[in-house]
Amino acid sequence: MNPFERALRQLVPAAVAGFVFLAPATAGPVDPSVYRQHVATLASDGFEGRKPGTVGETRTLEYLEGQFRKLGLEPANGPSFLQEVPMVEIAAAADASLSFSTGTEVAPLKFRDDMVIWTKRVKETESVTASQVVFVGYGVSAPEFGWDDYAGVDMRGKTAVILVNDPGFITKDESLFRGRAMTYYGRWTYKYEEAARRGAAAAIIVHQTEPASYGWNTVVNSWATPQLDQETSDGNAGRVAIEGWITEAAAEKLFAANGKSFQEAVRRANQRGFRAEVLSSTASASLRNTLRRAKSYNVAARLPGVKRPMETIVYMAHWDHLGRLPECSGDCIFNGAVDNATGTAGLIALADAFMRAPRKPQRSILFLAVTLEESGLLGSAFYVDNPLFPLASTVAAINMDAMHFGGPARDVTVIGFGASELERYLASAAKKQGRVLTPDPTPEIGSFFRSDHFNFAKRGVPALYIKGGVDDREHGAEWRRKYLAEFTTKNYHQVGDNYSPDADLRSGVENLDLLYAVGSRLARETTFPNWNADSEFRAARDRARAAAK
Ligand SMILES: [Zn+2]
Repeated sequence: MNPFERALRQLVPAAVAGFVFLAPATAGPVDPSVYRQHVATLASDGFEGRKPGTVGETRTLEYLEGQFRKLGLEPANGPSFLQEVPMVEIAAAADASLSFSTGTEVAPLKFRDDMVIWTKRVKETESVTASQVVFVGYGVSAPEFGWDDYAGVDMRGKTAVILVNDPGFITKDESLFRGRAMTYYGRWTYKYEEAARRGAAAAIIVHQTEPASYGWNTVVNSWATPQLDQETSDGNAGRVAIEGWITEAAAEKLFAANGKSFQEAVRRANQRGFRAEVLSSTASASLRNTLRRAKSYNVAARLPGVKRPMETIVYMAHWDHLGRLPECSGDCIFNGAVDNATGTAGLIALADAFMRAPRKPQRSILFLAVTLEESGLLGSAFYVDNPLFPLASTVAAINMDAMHFGGPARDVTVIGFGASELERYLASAAKKQGRVLTPDPTPEIGSFFRSDHFNFAKRGVPALYIKGGVDDREHGAEWRRKYLAEFTTKNYHQVGDNYSPDADLRSGVENLDLLYAVGSRLARETTFPNWNADSEFRAARDRARAAAK
């Protein structure tokens, strides 16, 4: 807020100041005071940073259930507003081993220095022995891009050595995949999933700083620590036995032992028609794990549709955040005001708007506050594995994660721009606000794959994930860019992500009005908007819709 605005705000009540500075003249469906009240409450110290497994979880769940009940929504899980999410923490001992053998030569890799490995299988020990190593390039099988790195190779029992990201990113060739923008196939999560579908015993990604977008340290900090995961009924038996990363230097040594050049192999992997290459090396690995089981909860409330109640529009936001800093004095609580008190408060504010609307929706609206986003999108992953309403008739998943503070904007940022027909709905609603859609300014970091709607997308459900725009109406684009950059360096996932009463929430309200317009229109229609034809999620949707008919 500039000094003039601050002075004016002190002279006149906030509502009047809001009227003075708010560009669109008409009030939208969402009540700004309701949104503000819930952001302030959820971000307060009493909620202890909303970490699963703490008193912060108990308070958040009680609060959300209480609000949904008060608004007159139905519990969405039989008689309950809660959906239990079982999870397991798998901690590998430091003696985890991985070695490559070539002929009579055995090359052991050092845990943390040269490699990190783990297993997603819920087991106290896991190993692979003398498994044939196959270099599978990017490990991508993408019919819509005419690309199959696994063509003609039988991976059963073998060890896949895989590059991170996709050929479009590496070559900057806009005709390959989506050029600089990361696709689903570029994400490391996909690499392990595809290797498992191929029946591989182990899947090892080669770390390279630029395509990974982070250094080896980040790999070690993320993976050489206890990992929380979903506890599935089969103990994650469908995953490969051993997953991991090796350094680029370790990959170079492996190729050199085979009389080959790793960099030459990378060049081949970037070319159309690449064929996987069976190396003469074998891999052996073993792990000992400590297992700890726990559970958390999604909160789900429903407004049943009056005409087509089994067709559902989902609004979602993760309620969880990071808790408290251990051994700390001063500001020790990760209040997570932006991330994600805003989205969670947005759910309540949207529910309030739908309940106040003169006409009830024809399709059902599900308000879903998911847990364990910060631990790898686990609450939403559990939901799509155990949906409360069929995914094939779930019309859209609209996600709110970190709705930034700030004033109204001339645009609305679409993360994963160009992906689905939902953008047509968004564009026409945005036009009524005098706004236009703009693509994610940094598609190379793959934000689309880093929040909960992604789990719905993987199952084919069209998903929408927007941000408040980059062109601020009062201060311009450069000001907004600086504001967002400063949030990322100073506050993102830090104790400084706080709420204060002079926080400007107009951007959030503007976006909630927009998402309300999209959801309420979908709730009146009989159509099922799909992913666009070139989307990596289209095939899953077509299959699901065909099976449902
Ligand atoms: Zn978040």
